Amino acid sequence: MAFLVVATDPLHSDFSGELEELAAIGAEFRTAQCRTEEDVAEACHDADGIMVTLSPVGRRALAGMPRCRIIVRTGVGYDTIDVAAATERKVMVANVPDYCISEVADHALALMLCLWRKVVELDAQVRAQGWTDMLRPVHRLEGQVLGIIGLGRIGRAVAARARGFGLRRIAYDPYVPADVFSALGVESVSLDVLARSADIITMHTPLTHETRGLIRRELLRKMKPTALLVNTSRGGVVATDDLVQALREGWISGAGLDVFEAEPLPQDHPLRSLPRVLLTPHAAWYSVGAERELRRRSARTVVQALRGQAPASLVNPEVLGC
Ligand code: NAD
Repeated sequence: MAFLVVATDPLHSDFSGELEELAAIGAEFRTAQCRTEEDVAEACHDADGIMVTLSPVGRRALAGMPRCRIIVRTGVGYDTIDVAAATERKVMVANVPDYCISEVADHALALMLCLWRKVVELDAQVRAQGWTDMLRPVHRLEGQVLGIIGLGRIGRAVAARARGFGLRRIAYDPYVPADVFSALGVESVSLDVLARSADIITMHTPLTHETRGLIRRELLRKMKPTALLVNTSRGGVVATDDLVQALREGWISGAGLDVFEAEPLPQDHPLRSLPRVLLTPHAAWYSVGAERELRRRSARTVVQALRGQAPASLVNPEVLGC
């Protein structure tokens, strides 16, 4: 019987890349729009491999797909997948770790620059009033302190770009060795020092039990009232209610957000009506080239696993020893 591969919630509609890759094993391909674990269990009950964008895959979903051998998260973060539960069931979990490093780094810089230079407000005023006075004050960006939380692939790409803008770069990442910091010319600091000294904080950690709610009331209160927060990592690293309070009460000056605790961001969410907040719809990863690469590599990873090979970026390698 041919393998069946299901894409649980693809964001695109042209599957030529996936089909070309899956043809190597003659797999059948099906798509769905799963929002819940029950949806996943139903759509994937006879699947040998699945490709997941944002659908939740926990114990309930896994119990409903007994044939499944490989779950590919078509993206970098895999916090929507219960990796421990998958490992117990000997299901491989893989991601595509590095397909959009420059896109996310560019997007983080774009949010910073637009906020710092007040681009969106100036644009709105020119459109509404024909012309406008300066939106005072805007300070010189060169020489300001950029605080990077998470100095991995994307954090380092942000650090490289920020150097060109003459920013002083400091970072908090307890898992990165000192020689990496010095090679990048980035100063290693504690989270406390970063919060107090940064003019802009940019988030680049994965969402884990350690990073969930890392940016909360206590940390926001330490930040400069003129500081900006940019988050292109995962919504859950910021306690949203605390951020809303910080913005309303002027503990910080603004925020640029691509990711949210609840996605899509609810229509009536207070973030939508706050000034000095830029919102993008989890779009930092996207470019034509990144999407093409993501789709092909996701399907190729499924093919590797169903052929009995170890996938390129296995998140739970211990499953192979089971
Ligand atoms: P990476 O694994 O290369 O880097 C993550 C870094 O975070 C690592 O250096 C790690 O040591 C550090 N880290 C882990 N726990 C930490 C903690 N408690 N405190 C400080 N640092 C910590 O990942 P990456 O490729 O740089 O991606 C980072 C995140 O960006 C991903 O996990 C993903 O969630 C997010 N992302 C978002 C988009 C988007 O479209 N918005 C696209 C791609 C990735």
